[in-house]
Amino acid sequence: MLKGKCAVITGSTRGIGKSIAIKYASLGCNIVINYRSEKDEVNARELSDEIGKLGVNTLIVKANIADFEEAKNLVEKAKEKFGKVDILVNNAGITKDNLILRMNESDFDSVINVNLKGSFNCLKAVTPIMLKQKHGKIINMASVVGVIGNPGQVNYCASKAGVIGMTKSLAKELGGKNINVNAIAPGFIDTDMTRVLSEEQKKNILSQVPLKRLGLASDIANVAAFLASEDSDYITGQVIHVDGGMAM
Ligand code: NAP
Repeated sequence: MLKGKCAVITGSTRGIGKSIAIKYASLGCNIVINYRSEKDEVNARELSDEIGKLGVNTLIVKANIADFEEAKNLVEKAKEKFGKVDILVNNAGITKDNLILRMNESDFDSVINVNLKGSFNCLKAVTPIMLKQKHGKIINMASVVGVIGNPGQVNYCASKAGVIGMTKSLAKELGGKNINVNAIAPGFIDTDMTRVLSEEQKKNILSQVPLKRLGLASDIANVAAFLASEDSDYITGQVIHVDGGMAM
C-alpha cells in the first residue's frame, strides 16, 4: 500500500511513533527514524534493524524538532537519501503537566516549542519539497484534550488545539496542490507518556471511555497508515478521533 514511498516520522523510537514506523514499513514504506536524546540512539538502531528485516530502507537522523535548523536538516537528509518525501508524520510531543497556579513559564514554553512550533518547523521544511513533487501526505498528531480540554494541561491542550488549527489552515493552503493535511486526535494510549499516570487517574480516564480500555499505539498506527495511503485521497483538513469514543 505504501511501497517505495518515503516517510519522515518524528519522535519514532518509541510509543506511537515507533508503532507507525513499523506499520508503514510492513506496507513497504522506507522510513526516516528521528530521535532527540542520546538515550534513544540505541532504540533508533534497534528499530532500524527490525524494520530492515521487512525489506525496506531506513535512515536515522538525530534532531530536536523544536530547533528550526535541526528540523530542516532532518527533512533535507530524508530528501537527500530517498530523493523525495511522500509522507510527514509530526508525531514528536511532550507533556509538562501542572495546574495553572503551579505551571511556570518554562513548562508552558517548552511544550508549545516542541508540540506546536516543532510541528511548524517540520511543515515549513517539507512543504517546498511536496509542492515541487506535486504530492504529499501530512499527518499531525493532535490529542482528544486539544478538543475537549483537560485540567492540569493548559500548555499541552493549547499546543494540540494549535496543531488542529494549523492542520486546517495548511489543508486549505495546499488542497489544490495534491497535498493532504490531516490530524489524528488520540485518546489515552498506553505509552511512556501515560504510564506516569496514577491508577486513580487511569480509573478516572477509563470511566470516560465508552470502549472501556486505553488505546494501543497500533490503534493509532492503523489510522496513520490509512491517512498516508491513497485510500484517503479525498480527505483533508480532518481531525480523526481515535479515542475509544471519548469525544463524540
Ligand atoms: P512518548 O512515548 O513519550 O514518545 C514521544 C516521542 O517523541 C519520543 O520518542 C521522544 O523522544 C520524542 N520527542 C519529544 N520531543 C522531541 C523533540 N523535541 N524532537 C524530537 N523528538 C522528540 O509519547 P507517545 O505517547 O508515543 O506520543 C506520541 C504523540 O502522540 C505525541 O505528540 C503525543 O502528544 C500524542 N498523543 C499521545 C497520547 C497518549 O495517550 N500517549 C494521547 C494523545 C496524543 P525523546 O525521548 O528523545 O524526547
